[in-house]
Amino acid sequence: MKITFMGAAGEVTGSCYLVEGPDVRFLVDCGMFQGDRDSDVKNRAAFAFEPEKIDFVVLTHAHIDHSGLVPKLCREGYEGPVYSTGATAQLLEIMLRDSAHIHQNDAARANRKRKKSNAVLEPLYTMADADKALLQCQVRPYDEIFKPHDNVRIRMRDAGHILGSAILEIWLKGDKGDKKIVFSGDLGQPGRPILRDPCLIDKTDYLVVESTYGDRQHKALSPSLDEFVEIINDRVLKRRGNVIVPAFAVGRTQELIYYLYHLTYEGRLNNLNVFLDSPMAQSVTELTNRHFELFDKEAKKLATWQARNGGELTLTFTRTVEESMALNSIRSGAIIIAASGMCTAGRIVHHLRHGLGRPNNTVLITGYQARGTLGRRLVDGAKTVRIFGREIAVKAQVSTIGGFSAHADQKAILDWLDGFETPPLKTFITHGEPEAATALAQKINDRPGWQTMIPAIGQSTLLEPVMA
Ligand SMILES: [Zn+2]
Ligand SMILES: [Zn+2]
Repeated sequence: MKITFMGAAGEVTGSCYLVEGPDVRFLVDCGMFQGDRDSDVKNRAAFAFEPEKIDFVVLTHAHIDHSGLVPKLCREGYEGPVYSTGATAQLLEIMLRDSAHIHQNDAARANRKRKKSNAVLEPLYTMADADKALLQCQVRPYDEIFKPHDNVRIRMRDAGHILGSAILEIWLKGDKGDKKIVFSGDLGQPGRPILRDPCLIDKTDYLVVESTYGDRQHKALSPSLDEFVEIINDRVLKRRGNVIVPAFAVGRTQELIYYLYHLTYEGRLNNLNVFLDSPMAQSVTELTNRHFELFDKEAKKLATWQARNGGELTLTFTRTVEESMALNSIRSGAIIIAASGMCTAGRIVHHLRHGLGRPNNTVLITGYQARGTLGRRLVDGAKTVRIFGREIAVKAQVSTIGGFSAHADQKAILDWLDGFETPPLKTFITHGEPEAATALAQKINDRPGWQTMIPAIGQSTLLEPVMA
């Protein structure tokens, strides 16, 4: 048995693991690389395996860095099933089509620019590719074992990260007996709103664990909410500016809306004027509201209050480009939430172009900003940034609130590892920048019996018990 780390090795994005056992070969996740300058090159590179020889694909969740290359995989010859939870499959329908739309637009724009040179840039994949991939999706429920192959059994458990997210328990039949591998997927931070906490797993032979925040502790939620209230009241009401919030359309946006309602319910915020400027985030918010069964207790309670008193907060969804552009003429009092979460594309970039130059505005960062992204440059305190080829002075205040992460912090990851009754034979640390992965590895290695490895991209390793 062998596992090859095709992505999310030494970095956060591009999750894709190839698992090979007797007579079986499958992928866990097939995500896009994002953020870095060379992401596009990596996304366009040929797969290091033959897509038609893969038996099945199983996805931990719908985030594009875990699912975004599935359409490419299917276009390049993969005909088999793509397994996920029901909510993930519904999210994929929104996200893969949105992703295809972005690729088509990007390619069209690039082709207009290079008209003279005659070289035509093909989109990474098209809407037709995404639609074909969606037909290959197969839904499996949480907590029930299914058999995608004679030699493989899989169970998906709630990872508490985004709607539909799963930890995978995988049992592989081998020549020397069964081996179990657990993929943590992306782990949610316990105690976060809307979703339940990550499910604990008691046993495995091998573990692949994420490490996005493996070197950090999140600020506690309640001081983060205090900060949130203060920023909104101070910037929106007193200084008469707008608050511009880049947010992932999936997860963070719904959480922010949850907090805005919750703080209104508590009387700490009043009469807010919130604009959700993202058709995708709107679709996902509507989808989330339909999955009441996946809510935690507090979210169920708030949803009931919201149905009766929702009018105390004005939430406007802007669909069309014209509606989105009209937001730029609002000079004060607006909270504008838009994607993408790391400011790499989408409507948020336009709002930043118009809003960064005004000192009474605030850019409120509430999520992870990968190296090389516009969001990261803002967090790092850049005085000017380049947007659409133009240098823009950053006069707006940039504030970061750390307590809202959708990822478990170091302590939460270690607490989750406590759920294992005995240490796995080996723990592979992925989905983190090198400092984060190394810091987490050190913490884990301090535990008696635990052994870690930080795989490099493309590295393969045999899953056999180490002979003493
Ligand atoms: Zn994720
Ligand atoms: Zn991820």
